[in-house]
Amino acid sequence: MPGLPISNETMPQHARLVVDAHAHIFPPEFDRARASLGSRDAWFGELYGNPKIQLANDADLISSMEFAGVHCSVVCGFPWLDPGICRAHNDYLLDVAARHPGRIAAVTVVSPTSREAAEEAERCLRAGAVGIGELNADAQDFDLAEPELLTPVVEVCQGLGKPILLHVSEPVGHLYPGKGTSTPDRLQTFLVAFPKVKIVAAHWGGGLPFYELMPEIAALTRNVVYDTAASTYLYTAKVFRTVVDLVGADRVLMGTDYALLRQDRFIRKLQRQNVSAEELDLVLGMNADRVYDLSLGGARS
Ligand SMILES: [Zn+2]
Repeated sequence: MPGLPISNETMPQHARLVVDAHAHIFPPEFDRARASLGSRDAWFGELYGNPKIQLANDADLISSMEFAGVHCSVVCGFPWLDPGICRAHNDYLLDVAARHPGRIAAVTVVSPTSREAAEEAERCLRAGAVGIGELNADAQDFDLAEPELLTPVVEVCQGLGKPILLHVSEPVGHLYPGKGTSTPDRLQTFLVAFPKVKIVAAHWGGGLPFYELMPEIAALTRNVVYDTAASTYLYTAKVFRTVVDLVGADRVLMGTDYALLRQDRFIRKLQRQNVSAEELDLVLGMNADRVYDLSLGGARS
């Protein structure tokens, strides 16, 4: 990774590779068109209708990465319902990834029930995307409990060995914009239908790790890993140690949900938790490198 301007002060002292596995950026023109996009897409309007909420772009992200000591960010698509907006967003994400090899990787989005979903997934994966997502049932008008609708997209991802990033949320607790109803019970139905596709269950899988204490759920989640996106917005910091104990340090990917949360603060918080240096190396970067096949080499000095 040539010439990375990593600051020693903010660089985690013993971590070798730092990957933010869940960040969101948007084309600058989407920010300018925020009001009209908000009226075309209800989910976008709910999350980003307020112009005070940052709609970060690639330049913002690179600055944040330099400040936070992040080597690589996986930028994820927004769950647009309209396949045309998905395509425009994907073109931007693929272009940014191509301009920043080793620094930014793209997870591109499709509207899973649209007629062109499988074709768009394949186009993006062949153009360098490292996965498909972040799919969101509430935003995109599907239900994880009716998984047959997702078959074409799943088959493309499974065939190319690429993961699907799913938004999953808690069946309990406070309501917040973007929470939705993709709860672990619905994800279970999806996993029964598609046990072989690689899944990254965002936001700690809405609490699914706890249910891995049930042997049948542990068997069902063999191809599932969890990301930590938005964690500090949802859970106390105990969640890091707890989930590592529940599912193993090799199945947790540090993701911030940037720009919702700041990368530097999130990483500092994770570093302060009771996790060993070896566990931290896995969670902070090596797992994302493996799951998204980022070819970062696992270790950085
Ligand atoms: Zn999400």
